[in-house]
Amino acid sequence: MCYIRGNALDYDGWAERKGLENWSYRDCLPYFRKAETRDIGANDYHGSDGPVHVTTSQPCANPLFGAMVEAGVQACRRAGVQAGYPRTDDLNGYRQEGFGPMDRTVTANGRRASTARGYLDHARERPNLIIVTHATTDRILFGGKRANGVAYLHGHASITAYARREVLLCGGAIASPQILQRSGVGPETAYHPSCSCAMGYDEMAVVDNEGRVHGVEGLRVVDASIMPRITTGNLNAPTIMLAEKIADRIRGRAALPRVDVPYFVANGAAARGMSARCDTGKADAGARRLTTWEPWDLPQREVKRRAAY
Ligand SMILES: Cc1cc2nc3c(=O)[nH]c(=O)nc-3n(C[C@H](O)[C@H](O)[C@H](O)COP(=O)(O)OP(=O)(O)OC[C@H]3O[C@@H](n4cnc5c(N)ncnc54)[C@H](O)[C@@H]3O)c2cc1C
Repeated sequence: MCYIRGNALDYDGWAERKGLENWSYRDCLPYFRKAETRDIGANDYHGSDGPVHVTTSQPCANPLFGAMVEAGVQACRRAGVQAGYPRTDDLNGYRQEGFGPMDRTVTANGRRASTARGYLDHARERPNLIIVTHATTDRILFGGKRANGVAYLHGHASITAYARREVLLCGGAIASPQILQRSGVGPETAYHPSCSCAMGYDEMAVVDNEGRVHGVEGLRVVDASIMPRITTGNLNAPTIMLAEKIADRIRGRAALPRVDVPYFVANGAAARGMSARCDTGKADAGARRLTTWEPWDLPQREVKRRAAY
């Protein structure tokens, strides 16, 4: 499975929405790191002791691999694309845009690293956990406005389970809004592969900045449906990140501290979904310099420039 986090500006775009200030890239990065064990080791962008194993393709493993990346870089140069795509050594690091090796959610032994293996397998022996497979959630049960359980189907049996604290709904971007609607909580939004129970505080938002469903108590949605806007990449890694981040809130833990790392901003681009912010020729010059691989001092300058907005 592709391990692609999306662009740093995706998350900065989330954080520009009212009430979602704590979802910026620098707030989310500690949770990407927390969830991850990367085969080639940790750095400012990657973790080394998380439940999800991530493997980076090695160019030396197959000559075609390096050739394909180089062909992309050369094609871009030949096309004369001014702020085109250079080689990038880490699509989940300082710079997403460019040609480079794609990380995969795979163990060092070449096995698929799913969240079932990474998280559930380690928790299944806990005395306070019961896993019921082949069960279909029908609806959330309420006592007044408070969610206090679920009704589910198991074989031909209809079963109810009650919650002491909260109900966490993780049915995915299609099923979570369906289950909410069957339970009398209508998100009334159109379906997308994500964002169907979006976080926020506007009239279309379904949950708040901790996944709590607006207007009721004791009920959270924690899956891809709560993204306020789809990221520019695959959705598995962002979903794991947001679940890790909300898990800290559920457990009453302080959020991991925001990290101060540089990240690439092409040509002074605005965060996604926000109105474009104008910048001067200074930004253009910065972007041009970054069309070829740059030493690490340049990103620092980029960040300072961005912080000055
Ligand atoms: C074919 C395919 C390939 C993909 N490849 C990639 C990739 O390479 N990289 C990547 O990052 N992303 C990939 N994705 C996307 C990624 O799988 C999802 O974005 C991610 O799994 C979303 O996580 P989630 O927790 O929101 O939902 P899900 O992982 O879908 O989890 C929802 C769970 O709820 C269960 N469920 C639903 N309804 C009910 C119900 N009524 N009762 C009980 N349980 C229910 C489902 O069975 C499922 O297990 C792919 C998706 C597909 C379909």
